[in-house]
Formats: sequence, structure tokens, C-alpha cells
Amino acid sequence: MNHVISLAHGSGGLQSHTLIRELFLEYFGNAALNPLSDGALVKVNSEKIVFTTDSHVIKPLFYPGGDIGKLAVSGTVNDLAVCGAIPRWISCGMIIEEGFPIADLEKIVISMKQTAEYADVQIVTGDTKVVEKGAADGIFINTAGIGDRIEGIELGVQRILPGDIVIINGFIGDHGAAIIKAREEFPVSFQISSDCRPIHKEIIALLSKLDGIRIMRDPTRGGIATTLNEFAGDQPFGILIHEKLLPIRTEVQGLCEPLGFDPLYLANEGKFLLIISSKEADNALEILKSLPGNQNAATIGEVVPEPPGKVILKTHIGSSRIIDMLSGEMLPRIC
Ligand code: MG
Repeated sequence: MNHVISLAHGSGGLQSHTLIRELFLEYFGNAALNPLSDGALVKVNSEKIVFTTDSHVIKPLFYPGGDIGKLAVSGTVNDLAVCGAIPRWISCGMIIEEGFPIADLEKIVISMKQTAEYADVQIVTGDTKVVEKGAADGIFINTAGIGDRIEGIELGVQRILPGDIVIINGFIGDHGAAIIKAREEFPVSFQISSDCRPIHKEIIALLSKLDGIRIMRDPTRGGIATTLNEFAGDQPFGILIHEKLLPIRTEVQGLCEPLGFDPLYLANEGKFLLIISSKEADNALEILKSLPGNQNAATIGEVVPEPPGKVILKTHIGSSRIIDMLSGEMLPRIC
């Protein structure tokens, strides 16, 4: 491991995973943490709950489709939901830089309130710290969340089998593309909005109607390429995805191509990847498409016996290439 932290350690990709495994897991490891899921499954008395936490350092704080407050609540709600829990309570820890406008803080707080109302969660505890000018960039927000684990559900990579189907609930890369555009480092004329929103309703709808769901995860930093590698890594199966099936907006494709970004690695903040038994895949798509915001849900690939541990992309022209986890840092402070 390098001797200092680089931005790549916060990318959610390969270097983040190395840091987590070689340092955090080495010292903190326990049964709830070891699966490295979006949240920890723990028991309180005899009730199973999911407990999660996330810090948000996005730049800029306000962008088309969202802001740091909406992102913080959505991200935590979504992590609870993909772990099979009904989101209930959230904490809000704010680290604010001296000189930050209170009007902007109020906008962020109102956004958090509205998102929490939509997600049916309460913000029940919090903390405020202020640091000297220059010691932070505006505001950073940490949210932890607790959700009730839905009874009788089992999720995890150990449930995935060759023949299972991979589904995404809509267009990929919208959040990453919206942030690239909002930073105005690369001038483009068209509008792109982040997909940032809570997606617990669709996830809970699927969990309550189907029992062939193997695993779900929200492909945030590192994009779907990184999440699919998290599923397949060290496992006795591979994942094959088809370029022609990937739902990508023309605007996102149009932003990525000249700049050298790959939508497979762009962050999403209102999406989840779902692996499900083949016999329930059509049902899952039908349920998803009937719910607002998921009309572009699509089957994008399947679980295959070979090559184990790898994610393979079948391209438009019919060739195949290995898709690795994000390496390095493509776009710092995306969430
Ligand atoms: Mg997550």
C-alpha cells in the first residue's frame, strides 16, 4: 500500500477496496462487516435491522436534479433498501466551513426534509461541527441510517447462480454525467440531470412480490462496472453484459465519447442492479416498468459459468472484453 492517501482511495473502485480489505477489515473485521455489503445486518433483541453510513463530499453542492442534501438522504435510504430493509431512521452529521452562507444551508436542510418525507424516514439525531475557513470545502454531510429488515429475505453473492439475469432499473451514468456538466470544465450545450432520488419503493415492491432475487446494489461511485465486479469477484461464476442492451441516454453518450469517459464507470444515484432467477426476470421488469421513474428498466446480461470472477462485455460488433473494476480516480468528489 502507498504511504499516503490519494484521491483514488476514495473512488469506490480498486484502490478503495484495497484500503478497506488491507486496513479497515484487518482491524475492524467482524461477522456483520465482513460481507462488505451496503449496510450491516445486525440483531437488536430478536429483530433484524440494517445499519449503514455514508459521507457526502460532492462538488458542486447544487447541480441539476439534486444537491448534497437530497443526495445524502437518498444514498442512505438506497443503501438500506438494497440490503432488504425498510428505511426508518437517519442521522445527520454536518461539517461546515466558516463563512458558509446560511441561506445555502437552509436550502440543503429543506431538501433533506423533502427527501426524507418522500422516503418515509425521520431524521432523528444529528451533529454540527464548524471548521475554520479553508479546513473544508463548504459543507460535508454524513448520514447513517437504520432500517427494518424485511422478514424471510436472504440476499447475497452466495445465492447467485449461472443462468440468473442482471437487470438495471433505468439509464446508466446520469449522475456522473450531470456532475461533469455542472462543473463546467467541459462545455456542452445540452442539459443532463442527475438521477439522484430514493428508490426504496421499487425495491420493496420487488422484494414483496418475488422470491428469486439474489442480490441488489446501487451502482454509485465506480458505476455499474465496479458493482458487477463486486458481485463476480472471487466467485465461481462470471457476469456477461451486452453493450446493445445497456440503457444510456444519447446526451450521456454524447458527453462521454469526446471526453473519454465510459458510462459503465459513471456514478448513478437513483439506480440499482438486481440479479434474479431467470424465471422471475420478466416479472421483475414488468413490476419495475409499472412504477414511476423505472420505465427504462432493462435486462442487461446474465450470470455465466465461465470465466469465473470476471465481468465480460459483449460489444456492438460482437467481440468480448473484460470489464475491470474502476482503477484510479476518474472524477473525485462525485458523491
Ligand atoms: Mg451502496
